[in-house]
Amino acid sequence: MRTAFTAGIAILLLVQTAAFAGDERPQPAADKKEIEKLPGLYKVAGRGGDESAVYCVLTPEPVLIDCGSRVGWDQLAGNLKLLGLSPGDVRWVIATHGHWDHMDAMALFQKDFPSVKFAIHAGDAQFVINDDRVFSCAEPLYDGVESAPVKVDRVLLDNDTVNVGNAVFRIVHTPGHTPGCIVVATEIAGKKIAFSGDSVGGYYSLLNRSSTIDWQSSLKKIQALDVDWLCTGHGRDPVDSKDEIREMIDTQMQAVTSKRKKQESDEPYRGLESEMNKGR
Ligand SMILES: [Zn+2]
Repeated sequence: MRTAFTAGIAILLLVQTAAFAGDERPQPAADKKEIEKLPGLYKVAGRGGDESAVYCVLTPEPVLIDCGSRVGWDQLAGNLKLLGLSPGDVRWVIATHGHWDHMDAMALFQKDFPSVKFAIHAGDAQFVINDDRVFSCAEPLYDGVESAPVKVDRVLLDNDTVNVGNAVFRIVHTPGHTPGCIVVATEIAGKKIAFSGDSVGGYYSLLNRSSTIDWQSSLKKIQALDVDWLCTGHGRDPVDSKDEIREMIDTQMQAVTSKRKKQESDEPYRGLESEMNKGR
């Protein structure tokens, strides 16, 4: 429903603008069934707080799409355990973009499980390597949470593939929310699936180097993928209705287009002043 989704975006914005709620750490599920979305697809974190969704695709070597922040580590490790896995069994973490809530836990993987590899698009790689706390939102949005530089094992570009066993993950560059946003497209149990991070449902901020023009093009690309399932970065379980997916992408397009129109009438500031005052 359009209204439900619009309300969802509003709630997401509210949730994402709030400082992280201290010790309220999300907990693992009670059993495997609770996290299974399809045979071979599990939502292993992002079930509480404002943590991003973390999906585990079980190929012979497991792949995570995003890994959340250190706040969600216990939930992530506990849910992997339900699948009979240790964090060290993960082969790749593919980040949908470089925001703290989507990839900060990579620093913990690299400290304790160094065999786990990390891939991110070129557009965001420099920010995570340098632990840019303004870009990653650790500073302005999450109120000074802990973070650390992360090593990048593979820099992704548009239309690259990450191949693990017989699974193929296609990288679709979808800049807009950040310069290095990607959608990860794959097929699981005969369904075309896209993991869209914050490209659908995410917010605009100059501090993220968001671009309304890039975002408009990216949303057209996502629409053209014509997937059966859409797994967004926050708040919702996978959406498995093509009509609903189309409407979600349309709703995001309307929000981005309206932002663009405001920017055009706001030259030369384009909202910079309010951005710079954020969090003060
Ligand atoms: Zn984000």
